[in-house]
Amino acid sequence: MPVDASEALLCWYAVDKRPLPWRTESGLEADPYRVWLSEIMLQQTTVAHARPYFETFMRRWPTVEALAGAADAEVMAAWAGLGYYARARNLLACARLVAAEHQGRFPDVEAELRRLPGIGAYTAAAIAAIAFDRRAVAVDANVERIVARLFAVKEALPKARRRIVELADRLTPARRAGEFIQAMMELGQTVCTPRAPDCGRCPIHEYCRAFGEADPSLYPVKARKAPRPRREGIAYWLEHQGKVLLVRRPQRGLLGGMLALPTDGEGAPAEADWREAGAVEHVFTHFALRMRLLCAEGQADSDGIWWPVERIGEAGLPTLFAKLAARGSAWRRAA
Ligand code: SF4
Repeated sequence: MPVDASEALLCWYAVDKRPLPWRTESGLEADPYRVWLSEIMLQQTTVAHARPYFETFMRRWPTVEALAGAADAEVMAAWAGLGYYARARNLLACARLVAAEHQGRFPDVEAELRRLPGIGAYTAAAIAAIAFDRRAVAVDANVERIVARLFAVKEALPKARRRIVELADRLTPARRAGEFIQAMMELGQTVCTPRAPDCGRCPIHEYCRAFGEADPSLYPVKARKAPRPRREGIAYWLEHQGKVLLVRRPQRGLLGGMLALPTDGEGAPAEADWREAGAVEHVFTHFALRMRLLCAEGQADSDGIWWPVERIGEAGLPTLFAKLAARGSAWRRAA
């Protein structure tokens, strides 16, 4: 049964796959740099959101050597809005390592790929399979969901993970593992979606145990999560002669290396007549943050970058600070 399901999936993928900019035409050799870049961008990010970033990066830095030679600030600004900024720092570290120590060529086996910054088990397997045609078993949330449904796995995640990896291994064909991984992704993103799987359109429904049950979306079973903790913070919009004060965040920690408004972590940037300008809610992986914005006119007591308010959209602020900056600009117009 698993082999038949894989074949049915591969046939469907050959015909129905979406044309995406990182995909290689069947029969052509894949470019490991494109595969790697897309896999890093697609971690925790939807295809629609990652796509324009991928196209921009490929236009600006078409090879791993070009990316390795880019300035940190330029790459961080180009990544702004894509989230999970540790990925961008690791992306640069990885590109520089591949350029300097591997003559610009990515290693072609999983174990060596895993030694590179930012490449975990899933990404190493995906690159080895897609770029180098190795048989590798890559299990991310899409694959977990499809396999849990296909085999009606009753055990809850994260405990069920080991069993799901074994089942995914059974499904993975000896040849065309790279296409198989991409086909699983495609199925998970377009048909076997988390909330409303479109089973009538599914190329493997005849092999799927959950399909025979009342509600396939109940899989994968998940252990109940503790509620996300909430945190509070303050950001400062300090304006002087049409410019606003920005700071570069420390490399380590939340939104590390990104340009941002000053926050209460470092203290207020000036003694000033601070005015409340509302608050912004933002959800990070491990906590939810409510950040109040205080606005004032004045000169800074500390170092920073004075950025023209009219061009704040070009500063490459991460989403949380872009939302706060929108409030700051509105405050300015109202003042
Ligand atoms: Fe998912 Fe439905 Fe296909 Fe089963 S039949 S794999 S639940 S889309």
